[in-house]
Amino acid sequence: MFEKALPLLESHFGYNAFRNGQEQAIRSVLTGENTICVMPTGGGKSICYQIPALILPGTTIVISPLISLMKDQVDALIQVGIPATFINSSLTFNEAAERIRAAKQGKYKLLYIAPERLESYEFLEDLNGMDIPLVAVDEAHCISQWGHDFRPSYRHIQQMIQNLPKRPNVLALTATATPRVRADICQLLNIDENNTVITGFERENLSFSVIKGQDRGKFLQAYLKKNDKEAGIIYAATRKNVDQLYERLRKENINVARYHAGMGDADRAREQERFLEDNASVMVATSAFGMGIDKSNIRYVLHFQMPKNMESYYQEAGRAGRDGLESECILLYSPQDVQVQRFLIDQSSDRGRITQELEKLQQMVDYCHTESCLQEFILKYFGETETDTCGRCGNCLDSRTSIDVTKEAQMVMSCVIRMGQRFGKNLTAQVLTGSKNKKVTEMGFNRLTTYGIMKDQGAKEVSDFIEFLISQELIAIEQGQFPTIYVSPKGKDILLGKQPVYRREAVKVKEVSKNDPLFEELREVRKSIAETEKVPPFVIFSDAALKDMCAKQPKTN
Ligand code: ADP
Ligand code: MG
Ligand code: ZN
Repeated sequence: MFEKALPLLESHFGYNAFRNGQEQAIRSVLTGENTICVMPTGGGKSICYQIPALILPGTTIVISPLISLMKDQVDALIQVGIPATFINSSLTFNEAAERIRAAKQGKYKLLYIAPERLESYEFLEDLNGMDIPLVAVDEAHCISQWGHDFRPSYRHIQQMIQNLPKRPNVLALTATATPRVRADICQLLNIDENNTVITGFERENLSFSVIKGQDRGKFLQAYLKKNDKEAGIIYAATRKNVDQLYERLRKENINVARYHAGMGDADRAREQERFLEDNASVMVATSAFGMGIDKSNIRYVLHFQMPKNMESYYQEAGRAGRDGLESECILLYSPQDVQVQRFLIDQSSDRGRITQELEKLQQMVDYCHTESCLQEFILKYFGETETDTCGRCGNCLDSRTSIDVTKEAQMVMSCVIRMGQRFGKNLTAQVLTGSKNKKVTEMGFNRLTTYGIMKDQGAKEVSDFIEFLISQELIAIEQGQFPTIYVSPKGKDILLGKQPVYRREAVKVKEVSKNDPLFEELREVRKSIAETEKVPPFVIFSDAALKDMCAKQPKTN
């Protein structure tokens, strides 16, 4: 059957070759295997079910959460001579009934359905009357709790498939599947993990960078001045941020459009149009903007704040450079972004997923703090194993020399252990900088040897340094209502002096002499690590043990 595929690609879509992964996915579907197809946004996933739909007898069902795009997708298919239609909440009862009747008569090759429809028993019965060879599940990560956009209605897909008189083939498609999400999709949709078609996530024309410790407004102003001829998207965290930025850029006579969910439909459509048709060079938007947008000449995507997770980030950043020309993806980071995202996660209705969301947020923070290749970080996040440094991201091009911060790392980690590995980053930073905060003294932390050991630095600086240690996996986080930190096995190696730690940012290095409290401290902490080696590595010291330790280490001055 596959021999029909290429002629169909040419006759209907006007392309003369398959892209990476498309042929493999189509072959797998046509041999009757349930398949999962993981390709980056813009990789060409639609073709992977549209061509089989043309070849297979009957009507292929496409489940898609993007109701606002269904009409456009269907119109585009009709235009190239492929009979297709959609059913979602935008139709009247009679319209939907008419389309179902026509579908039962085999009038369409493709039928797009919003997942909410599957919650209706009557609708499932209607599907029973159709000849369905293939069910394509677009944006399949929506089925997983571990995805970034979980939709409970996706869980009805299994039920729908089981309900059909003849078991159809399943093709799951997604751009953002981490190994965990992939496993989830396969399990829930009954796909053998060996039938995974995955194409590289690397986008060779994109260069990533993270900007820290700079005034964002000033950075943006300078950046736009330098790139005023180019089209770009600026993503901001909240609607309010979008409105503020929009006003500000407008005052600077920049031809700017805006987009967020708080605007009316007509407004949004008009603004989007202005940007797509190159009548506005800059789009300022929340993450509501961009799904399914096919504008090829976007030269930069600038995140004014850190987004909530890597999936969202890579999807949004990936809208740059669809035409294959060099483009930039810049993230402006400030520690307060973490608070904003934490707050948004806390406010979200789905209480059951908070831990997952927080873990994903932490990986996003790690991205902002890593000093190794950003592209490599992303690829590893998405489960690619054979990766290499890109040579073009902000970190690869960073010419500052690394300095040895082993001692600082040891100070911090000793302190974390002394505090019993059950407190947060900020309190740890306060203890290290010798804060007189009530909680510090109440807990007796002012009696620790590590109290004030970094007092020549600000608590914020130290807190930032702890973030860096987290990104290096030397310190790990236990998520919960109040996230706490502990020293990882890798961190213990640093404490034992087995390996050095380097950092590019300027932190003040203090010489450690034999009289330095750190010297004695390290001896003690190393001993206790050696003693606890037999117990699980993340042991939490008991209150008694902690008290004991404090008692043994009276502050000597
Ligand atoms: P995805 O769903 O993976 O984000 P789409 O299916 O929307 O991507 O395709 C992205 C773009 O790539 C579309 O404009 C599509 O027409 C184009 N495209 C898909 N397959 C090919 C191909 N084989 N050759 C050239 N262009 C293609
Ligand atoms: Mg798609
Ligand atoms: Zn790099």
